[in-house]
Amino acid sequence: MKKIIVAIDGYSSCGKSTIAKALAKYAGYTYVDTGAMYRAIALFTLRNGLTDDAAIIAALPQIEVGFVLVDGAQHVTLNGEDVEGFIRTLEVGNAASRISQIKEVRAFLVAQQQKMGEAKGIVMDGRDIGTVVFPKAELKLFLTASPEVRAQRRYDELVEKGEKPDFEAVLADVNDRDYRDTHRAESPLRQAEDAIVVDNSSMTREEQMNVIYGLFDKAVNH
Ligand code: C5P
Repeated sequence: MKKIIVAIDGYSSCGKSTIAKALAKYAGYTYVDTGAMYRAIALFTLRNGLTDDAAIIAALPQIEVGFVLVDGAQHVTLNGEDVEGFIRTLEVGNAASRISQIKEVRAFLVAQQQKMGEAKGIVMDGRDIGTVVFPKAELKLFLTASPEVRAQRRYDELVEKGEKPDFEAVLADVNDRDYRDTHRAESPLRQAEDAIVVDNSSMTREEQMNVIYGLFDKAVNH
């Protein structure tokens, strides 16, 4: 059967990675979480106290981001260290949102992401996958949900991890991140013209996956 590239873009906390993982499993494809790659670089900058753009750009040659499979789950690595357990915090998310505005950081990661897609058979999620990384992807999905629904999901995730978040702060963070993601000069988040929009504010996970599996089957048989 023909192998394709599936590009999934959308706002933060709208379930992109859950959907992308489920679709990759359904299709027997490789899943790549590009947000985790930006988060790994953000972690590097936080650990090394790098704050200005020039210092971050100068450090790029010393940074190697990769993935390993741990009990069937994909973990991101930073210079060979499994850092999955450190990157899903608000602090690292905010730093990722900031360093992702640096043109050189984007070029560094986009080149690696394009390489990962050379053999197709890939589901990649992020902000610029359908517009910049794979403008020719056979299937492009643009996911969205209301800021309140996304903040609630993020809040629940943080509570589950043992953090004690404040809902208003989480909502403000979702709105700030949306603003930064859509207004940055470099590859702002926007819907590719040929992307299919899926608003999951009031869909169950099952309803949503049925829609997405159907779109995938149609794209593969096209
Ligand atoms: O998706 P996730 O929340 O893990 O992404 C973390 C941050 O990395 C986002 O807020 C976004 O600014 C940035 N990002 C990006 N381009 C991507 C993936 C993530 O700019 N392809």
